[in-house]
Amino acid sequence: MKAKKSLGQNFLVDISVADRIVDAISPSHNDTVVEIGPGKGVLTDILANKVKTLICIEMDDLLSKRLQLKFESKPNVTVVNDDALNFNIETLITPTTSYKMIGNLPYNVASPIIRHYVNLNHKPCLITAMLQKEVADLIAAQPGKMGYLSVEFQSECSIQKLFTVGPSVFSPKPKVKSTVISLTPHNKLSTNQFPKSDFLAMVRAGFSAPRKQIHNCFENATDLSKVKIVDALETAGIDSKSRPQVLSISDWEKLYMIFYEMGVKF
Ligand code: SAM
Repeated sequence: MKAKKSLGQNFLVDISVADRIVDAISPSHNDTVVEIGPGKGVLTDILANKVKTLICIEMDDLLSKRLQLKFESKPNVTVVNDDALNFNIETLITPTTSYKMIGNLPYNVASPIIRHYVNLNHKPCLITAMLQKEVADLIAAQPGKMGYLSVEFQSECSIQKLFTVGPSVFSPKPKVKSTVISLTPHNKLSTNQFPKSDFLAMVRAGFSAPRKQIHNCFENATDLSKVKIVDALETAGIDSKSRPQVLSISDWEKLYMIFYEMGVKF
């Protein structure tokens, strides 16, 4: 069977890497785990014997049929043939059940899949995912190298970069390196007091011209006067001449509160 590029099918062939990804969620016999994109089942094989309930969501019809047959005799494994971005996980997991998510994700939809799960009301308590190294680096970046994705995910989760592997651990081999990261969603009060979409709209405006100084980004992306923007930045303790990449999560949160108190909408 030919790997489908459109579904990001680069199958992991190095079992020791599969073991390390599974170990990263510290699987236990009480766990409920959702695996995204199980493919030929390299992670599934290991997980099926380690956790209480394993729900696998695979979009490829043929692969999911094969997995359904393979795990027929394992009552703790359910294989769903669907798009992970559409499937409602709450149909299989009760609201009081804590669960972990794992996946060697298709590169092209890795961030949307993580975003989808982080935004659920009933979100996973832990997400461990393998994704393109550059995307993982950006999600986990520290002030100085941050981008919109870093702020989006770090304002919702604690993030840990675990390890990086080269193309040779996959078949077919991708052109890029891959990194495994863990995200632990938290419920911080600061951004949750206000609609998250407003907070992210402000961050998007702040990154609208990443090479420019932050006051210019806001001037480009909003109708606000320079005076008002500089005033808000200074009140938040942020140098208006800094580039947006250097702001920390707490800078963005402080800035949001100040714009909010000034009645500014993005
Ligand atoms: N987990 C397997 C492994 O490590 O070898 C396969 C990983 S491969 C990078 C990504 C898998 O995700 C493929 O099996 C692909 O068919 C599946 N996939 C792609 N898009 C998907 C989506 N939107 N929802 C669910 N599965 C998807």
